[in-house]
Amino acid sequence: MDHFLYRQGRLHAEDVAIAEIATTVGTPFYCYSSATLLRHFGLFEDALNWGPHLVCYAVKAASNVAILKLLADRGAGMDVVSGGEYARAKAAGVAGERIVFSGVGKTREEMRQALEGGIRQFNVESEPELVALSEVARALNLSAPITLRVNPDVDAMTHEKISTGRKEDKFGIPIGRAREIYVEAASLPGIEVVGIDVHIGSQVTDLEPYRQAYRKVAALTETLRADGHRIERLDLGGGLGIPYETSNQQPPLPSDYGVLVREELGHLGCEIEIEPGRLIAGNAGILVSRVIYLKHGEGRDFLILDGAMNDLTRPAMYGAWHDIVPVNEPTPGVERRPYDIVGPVCESGDTFAKAREMPPVGTGDLVAIRSAGAYGAVMASEYNSRPLVPEVLVQGDHFAVIRARPTLEEMISRDTVPEWL
Ligand SMILES: *Cc1c(COP(=O)(O)O)cnc(C)c1O
Repeated sequence: MDHFLYRQGRLHAEDVAIAEIATTVGTPFYCYSSATLLRHFGLFEDALNWGPHLVCYAVKAASNVAILKLLADRGAGMDVVSGGEYARAKAAGVAGERIVFSGVGKTREEMRQALEGGIRQFNVESEPELVALSEVARALNLSAPITLRVNPDVDAMTHEKISTGRKEDKFGIPIGRAREIYVEAASLPGIEVVGIDVHIGSQVTDLEPYRQAYRKVAALTETLRADGHRIERLDLGGGLGIPYETSNQQPPLPSDYGVLVREELGHLGCEIEIEPGRLIAGNAGILVSRVIYLKHGEGRDFLILDGAMNDLTRPAMYGAWHDIVPVNEPTPGVERRPYDIVGPVCESGDTFAKAREMPPVGTGDLVAIRSAGAYGAVMASEYNSRPLVPEVLVQGDHFAVIRARPTLEEMISRDTVPEWL
């Protein structure tokens, strides 16, 4: 459930008319609903309230500092994958003790930054990373709390590009080698083992792969404890999927997921950490765009929007489906027509939807691309020298621009012409 609904024939974000924001901010822009973000975060809180836990929002899904602060004020921890995301979490006021650091390629500089600023744990993904972290921590005279991210060799049955838990994926250490690498970790100065980490992929729509992975984690917990390691935290990653097509079957709910976690891991007495991103932010954001032209092509009609693949990459990158709806509510029963919905960028891949059945839409109309809150604005670029798309946050009857659209001057002023030119 989200808070983007028609009222008096006009699409609203909570109590604010989308058309009103478009008048103030211009198009295209991302619009997020605070109530939806908080609702989704609350679902995970409720799902895990049977035991000690921390819901660490995966910052990479939507990393605006205002969104991070909204969630952190409700008690969210943060899962970061770069020094940049760590700095964003800090800028949002999150204490280091509530930030976990994931990612396969942490640099020594990033390790130093997090050790000095405070960190709950590093989720270490390889032996060379372990050795580097030990050296960095020792040089600072600090201790680095760690989990090892294990690769459970489970197929999350999701899109090829976002599957992370099969043995051919670059993530984590092979679970079969975990015992020996935990021995190594325990022997390294500056390293403090606190638990195990696993993350099998994103947009996971079936609980079975989680069950398989978590069963392996449960067995590993017992083994490592018998070996003398302190395993008190289990970081179970993120990845729970969302319904992109409203007509489609619903993916599992956070509450179902929470029951599964309890069934498979509840008996171990560990603190549970999870790292959801998409499920919190995905349906809490839309991309609002205006139709520049309705163009009649050879046997098809093109809706040419002012939003493009540089603003929302998912359709071009993953062939992703997004529902696209007119901002003015269509008359009930009106005949739908097929449109190819495209942006102005000079690539045929700049296509949001092909032959999409829509109520009639014309030049100048506003449309909303739904479920765009996660992996939307964060993946935007300035390709074709289109200024970075702005972001707006709504709360109740008011809204704020949380990232302004740069002027052309601001965009260009980042380039420098050397004096020898
Ligand atoms: C991307 C990522 C997440 C979040 O995944 P979602 O599908 O957005 O929930 C969590 N943990 C790690 C390590 C990730 O790489």
